[in-house]
Amino acid sequence: MNYFKTLGLSLIAMAAVSCSKGPQKAASKGLAPADMDTTVAAGVDFDEYANGGWKKRNPLPDEKSRYGAFDVLGDESEKQIKELFTGIAEGTFADGTIEKKIADYYASGMDTASIEAAGLSPLQPFIEQIDALQSKEDMQQLLAEWQSWGLNPLFGIYADADQKNSAMKVAYLYQSGLGMPNRDYYLNEDEHTLDIQQKYRLYIAGLLEQLGEDSASATQDAETIYAMEKEMAGFSMSMLDQRDPYKVYNKMDLEQLNKLAPQYKWTAYFKTIGANDPGDFIVAQPEFIKNMAAMLNEKPLADWKQYLKYHTVSDFAGVLPKTVSDMSFEFYGKTLSGTPAQRPRWKRVQGSTNNALGEAVGELYVKEYFPPQAKERMLKLVENLRKALGSRIENLSWMSDTTKEKAIEKLNGITVKIGYPDKWKDYSALEITPDSYFQNVLNSSKFYFEDMIGKINKPVDKAEWGMTPQTVNAYYNPSANEIVFPAAILQPPFFYMDADDAVNYGAIGVVIGHEMSHGFDDQGRQYDKVGNLNDWWQTEDAERFTGKANRLADEYSQFTVLDTVKADGKLTLGENIADLGGLNISYTAMHMALNGNEQEIDGFTPNQRFFLSYGHIWAQNIRDEEKLRLTKVDVHSLGRYRVLGPLRNMPEFYSAFNIKEGDYMYLPENERVVIW
Ligand SMILES: [Zn+2]
Repeated sequence: MNYFKTLGLSLIAMAAVSCSKGPQKAASKGLAPADMDTTVAAGVDFDEYANGGWKKRNPLPDEKSRYGAFDVLGDESEKQIKELFTGIAEGTFADGTIEKKIADYYASGMDTASIEAAGLSPLQPFIEQIDALQSKEDMQQLLAEWQSWGLNPLFGIYADADQKNSAMKVAYLYQSGLGMPNRDYYLNEDEHTLDIQQKYRLYIAGLLEQLGEDSASATQDAETIYAMEKEMAGFSMSMLDQRDPYKVYNKMDLEQLNKLAPQYKWTAYFKTIGANDPGDFIVAQPEFIKNMAAMLNEKPLADWKQYLKYHTVSDFAGVLPKTVSDMSFEFYGKTLSGTPAQRPRWKRVQGSTNNALGEAVGELYVKEYFPPQAKERMLKLVENLRKALGSRIENLSWMSDTTKEKAIEKLNGITVKIGYPDKWKDYSALEITPDSYFQNVLNSSKFYFEDMIGKINKPVDKAEWGMTPQTVNAYYNPSANEIVFPAAILQPPFFYMDADDAVNYGAIGVVIGHEMSHGFDDQGRQYDKVGNLNDWWQTEDAERFTGKANRLADEYSQFTVLDTVKADGKLTLGENIADLGGLNISYTAMHMALNGNEQEIDGFTPNQRFFLSYGHIWAQNIRDEEKLRLTKVDVHSLGRYRVLGPLRNMPEFYSAFNIKEGDYMYLPENERVVIW
């Protein structure tokens, strides 16, 4: 599993978005009074006040662990893609065209008769390779070869911009090895986590039984495998440490890596993956790589064989027959997220097609669904937001002129990408067959792997995108100092072509401001205007920033997620700074645009409509299990706290809704934080 991502501080954690239910058609003016619950006072609980009606009308579908305004739009994008696919399936396309590849990939995934008939036979070559291993050297060789199939049972490799020389791509080695989301799942000992650990061991044993082991030995092997993963969890880097860009930046050459982890044959490794001359590369988690190599050496080969078998079947579970894919869902969907039902097959296969042929689908998607006027409107909005942030920086009372000047330079240097890439990815080297879903998944992994390896030690291609146009999300990429808004997010409830300014600034305006603020959050501020890790701050300014950021982290850490579990204000700090910054910047930009026009609509002032529109984008229902999971793995706050958290710090919100001392939404003036 690939947990390593340097690209992008996104607006929302990537999640499977899908639902059979259609979106509420947005009113032309953008806000629907029925979404609110005016029996709750705005000052008591603004999330309920703004979203109570929406939450009641949109109960969680069985196939969802959470359902919010984002998902409504995700559903819309999913339906549009379904229509595209249906159109393609009815047409005739020549071999080699992207339409033919999409049609064949999708058809292979929907061919459940063939998938069931093949059983676990597609796994057979992998199992035979494991059985044939004679030594640890053999195993290292196998691990290297398997990376191109998307299997990273111990560690992975990724090509990304050098964080200190952002014009060049380098290789990053990153930790892997755990079947559960991160180290906390193994090391925490609260009741809920202990229950998950128990179910995880049953899941491992269940899969081994599918491979033909008897129940007793499968149970025993599951204990061994679990103990191995727990050992790895002990030397894995925490999520929090991974947010520190310097902690994950450890540049080395082969000689240094050989010294760090001498049990591993690194020269052979790089040669096998096709990077004969890796040059200098980054070891994201040196402690992990060091201990992993030692552990590989120490544990018996027989244990590693069972470990590899389990990881192989688990990693491919989604493309195997129903019995196995259901077992995977039972653990990853039901146990971890509390989702009662699996998504219908067409949605899963469509999602998989989207992964394999993302920009090919995107190319067809924007032709059909992205109006060119939306891009122009967006560009104008972005420039207004940039102007607003510029003036806010000029007026900051806590920052020196020297740092302000650098901040403005960085702001002016932000590149903006809207809609879709200027240059589409070339899929001609990717072979797709209508006959085997499993083979298509392998081919796609190999295609992306080779593409990625080919970029090591080459200049960064600035035209590349980190998300497809049909993705409902947005991101800031610190090493490129760029903000990116895929076509699919430029629709209601984020972006309305014909709503009044207050509604658009409250939604897409805040999204733009959020992404811009990432350039200046606790992580992003460490990068300069060309995207290098490079300290451009006066010491006192950095100290004052950190003081404010710590206060914000403490505020969020007081939110109770469930029972005794609190939110993690440190893990979510960057996102919370971006939410608060986004609101402040967009509020300023809105007033520049309104230019004194305070016209009420439906009895609400522009200021009120701004905050209601913002609240609505985080309207959400969510399962308890998912709250707990996200609190452990997600750098974003839960939707409810994305509403409550930043607004409690904004005096503009207080005056818009007449928030008074004693209200839950009220924080004493000296406790409120404004950073940007
Ligand atoms: Zn973000």
